[in-house]
Amino acid sequence: MDLSFTPEQEAFRKQVRAWVKANLPKRDPEAGSLESGDPRRIQMLKDWQRTLYNAGYVAMGWPREYGGQAADVVQQTIVSEELILARAPGLIGGMGIQMVGPTLIQYGTDEQRRRHLRKILTAEEIWCQGYSEPGSGSDLASLRTRAELVGDEFVINGQKVWTSNAHFADWMFCLVRTDPDAPKHRGISYVLINMKTPGITVRPLIQMTGEPGFNEVFFEEVRVPRENLVGELNQGWLVANATLQHERNMLGSTTTTQQLMNGLLRLARTCHRNGKPAAEDPVIRQQLAELMIRVETMRYHAYRQLTNVLRKRPAGIGASVNKLVSTELNHDIAAMALDIMGPYGSLGRGAPHVHDRGEWPIQFMFSLGLIIGGGTSQIQKNIISERGLGMPR
Ligand SMILES: Cc1cc2nc3c(=O)[nH]c(=O)nc-3n(C[C@H](O)[C@H](O)[C@H](O)COP(=O)(O)OP(=O)(O)OC[C@H]3O[C@@H](n4cnc5c(N)ncnc54)[C@H](O)[C@@H]3O)c2cc1C
Repeated sequence: MDLSFTPEQEAFRKQVRAWVKANLPKRDPEAGSLESGDPRRIQMLKDWQRTLYNAGYVAMGWPREYGGQAADVVQQTIVSEELILARAPGLIGGMGIQMVGPTLIQYGTDEQRRRHLRKILTAEEIWCQGYSEPGSGSDLASLRTRAELVGDEFVINGQKVWTSNAHFADWMFCLVRTDPDAPKHRGISYVLINMKTPGITVRPLIQMTGEPGFNEVFFEEVRVPRENLVGELNQGWLVANATLQHERNMLGSTTTTQQLMNGLLRLARTCHRNGKPAAEDPVIRQQLAELMIRVETMRYHAYRQLTNVLRKRPAGIGASVNKLVSTELNHDIAAMALDIMGPYGSLGRGAPHVHDRGEWPIQFMFSLGLIIGGGTSQIQKNIISERGLGMPR
């Protein structure tokens, strides 16, 4: 593992830091959350992604012909570290940039890449993921949403569930069953669906945070042109897995966890316990140290993966390890924040005396969802034990 940065990389970091400082968007305390679909928040996040893109800091690893910078993985890491240190907002187009975009580069047609990639990067079009269905979550290949090829169109009927962002997304990358008679993994196709197509109904589901965030999506005789098929007909499982690999890396972002940990440390210094900052309480210090050790271990795991990429070694089960470790750690960090705040921890957004604008209880509930989304912890453990450790199925 290589832990050092070259002088050129350090100079690049300085340049990024200065840019972020000069361009960070102002917080709008009036705007509602992204999950609630507040148009002001959506616009602010779209503008921010556009600004980042114009500066060359979005999808830096993509080839130049598709709007990236062909940057190496160290440069990408430096940019994401600097954004986190500055507490910059996340990318609203994350699912486009980190999931369907790379999948289109790998499996899409030239026309699909030409049509979609730029709008993904500039946040002109936001994407959602139509994989899960009632009864088909961990056992995704059992999905039943049916797509029949009629002439040069697919006619789609069925239902998706837990579809994040569908209430404001423009497009969905979706798994549909195109051959009901084939073995379950071999009758699935991967299609791109414009969310404005007649026959689509989006019904928000309220999460325990009290906000929608994800949705049920119903398809009734939805007509999708055949050219929106990605990869071969009935070979969608292969394409879907490429996207899933990208999703696990996205959900398992080390930088997000570091950002949370930094927030927890700030909170421990400002909240008081027995007349002193909570950070000076010996029991809390011990618990903070244990969390910090887990965060640092995760950071070194990320550096090891980075070294593997630079040395062109296979990624193996790294994405599953990231997803498992970081989502559980994010939840434990939020739980510790609630402990530190004591009774104040139950105060929601807008309440008097609330700490950190009431973000911690939301984070505590939201992070529980991310342990499930993108493949549950149990499923990641199955993957790690079977494919990584070679244990029997
Ligand atoms: C916040 C959030 C956002 C989401 N966003 C999206 C989205 O945008 N698009 C999308 O398509 N889906 C999305 N999902 C759905 C998510 O992918 C599924 O919830 C997840 O894959 C689990 O499926 P399930 O809910 O059907 O649970 P089930 O598969 O029914 O699992 C129930 C329990 O059984 C366990 N289990 C199941 N099979 C096994 C096994 N083989 N071995 C051991 N344990 C097992 C699971 O770990 C879990 O604890 C989201 C979910 C959440 C919570």
